[in-house]
Amino acid sequence: MFDKILIANRGEIALRIHRACKEMGIHTVAVHSEADANAMHVRLADESVCIGPAPAAKSYLNIPAIVSACEITGAQAIHPGYGFLSENARFAEILGAHGYTFIGPKPEHIRIMGDKIAAKQAVQAAGIPVVPGSDGALTSEAEAIAAAEAIGFPVLIKAAAGGGGRGMKVARSLDEVAEAYGTARGEAKAAFGDDAVYMERYLAQPRHIELQIVADSFGAVCHLGERDCSLQRRHQKMMEEAPSPVIDAAARARIGKVVVDAVKAIGYLGVGTIEFLYENGEFFFIEMNTRLQVEHPVTEAITGIDLVREQIRIAAGLPLSFTQADVTIEGHSIECRINAENPRTFMPSPGLVTDFHAPGGLGVRLDSALYAGYTIPPYYDSLAGKLIVHGRDRAEAIARMRRALGEMVVGGIETTIPLFQDLLQDPDIIEGRYDIHWLERWIKAQG
Ligand code: ADP
Repeated sequence: MFDKILIANRGEIALRIHRACKEMGIHTVAVHSEADANAMHVRLADESVCIGPAPAAKSYLNIPAIVSACEITGAQAIHPGYGFLSENARFAEILGAHGYTFIGPKPEHIRIMGDKIAAKQAVQAAGIPVVPGSDGALTSEAEAIAAAEAIGFPVLIKAAAGGGGRGMKVARSLDEVAEAYGTARGEAKAAFGDDAVYMERYLAQPRHIELQIVADSFGAVCHLGERDCSLQRRHQKMMEEAPSPVIDAAARARIGKVVVDAVKAIGYLGVGTIEFLYENGEFFFIEMNTRLQVEHPVTEAITGIDLVREQIRIAAGLPLSFTQADVTIEGHSIECRINAENPRTFMPSPGLVTDFHAPGGLGVRLDSALYAGYTIPPYYDSLAGKLIVHGRDRAEAIARMRRALGEMVVGGIETTIPLFQDLLQDPDIIEGRYDIHWLERWIKAQG
């Protein structure tokens, strides 16, 4: 096992990784930008190294500075968290070349899954059903029009290098295709430096259902059930739950087997998430994330398995600490993303946190790097914490989440807490009747 791990991230996920390391007796090294010198991840870690100025491109994405930090501190392995360098195959290769262990999948799998066209082809060849769409990239307007006619309207044009819901455009009829194609390419180029796009059928009322998988270096692959992440704004998740209110044990076992067989065939290593849209009882693959997900705690709550601990064990060459038969799903878990944002306009609200009180009690978990007196810098994303609850059933989880949201105090800035308080009073949410378009409609109706 490693003695020392460098955590190449910030915020709540850096704390999450630190906590797993401490429980395993591993020393931690935090890296931070100049803007994060007073951040909680720096305070908690055993050692810390400043890796550059505030902009992420100069610090959290600065590969030479991170490699130097490993050298200076003697860290043997690097956990990238999510975002930043977590899906950068080149980073994983560079670390390997310097004799450090990247706590994540093999570079070749990061690369394939990072190209959503290649990813679809790879998983389809391994037996996973995909959203019907274009055969690979679209290279001209004429090709886009022909593909749309073959697929049937509405269609969605998506960036091959996409992430965070960016570079996606809907075309509802033939006369919208050329413009959607042009805009999607432009956005993709600006956001990812790559203008390759492809087309999919735009599903009318799907749910976003994703399967958590874990694979070790001995060929063992397990799935830990699904998460339902259908509550989204601008294709970004706001609230997640596990298990899904619409997936029963038989459907879970069926898709679980398809996914586990495919992951084995691909030879994947580490934790990963296979994302599907689910409509009329059918699963359609959209993408695979080759890292820990923001919403991983709901899976941890219902299975009792520490996913970061498993990641570290796998990277150290140890076998999974459980088998598929050991995985049982107990109760229900919900996560709310507490963003430092205005709950109506979603404008970022960085600044000084004047008061802070964490909710507690049975079945409540708060993953957050906030503290009273902390100033949230304006340079990074607005996730300020994740409130996760676990109950014996969905109704208990909802009651617990309402109670915990009511206890939580974050003074001085605006947060999405009031948004979730309203949402958890809505009959559709209480009954579990919502698809990926529900939240956008609800926000519009609020005015
Ligand atoms: P990203 O990598 O940007 O997160 P995804 O492919 O994972 O992109 O899609 C993000 C979200 O966009 C999905 O959860 C879903 O809400 C929506 N979406 C993606 N593909 C489709 C589709 N074919 N039809 C309808 N909605 C889609």
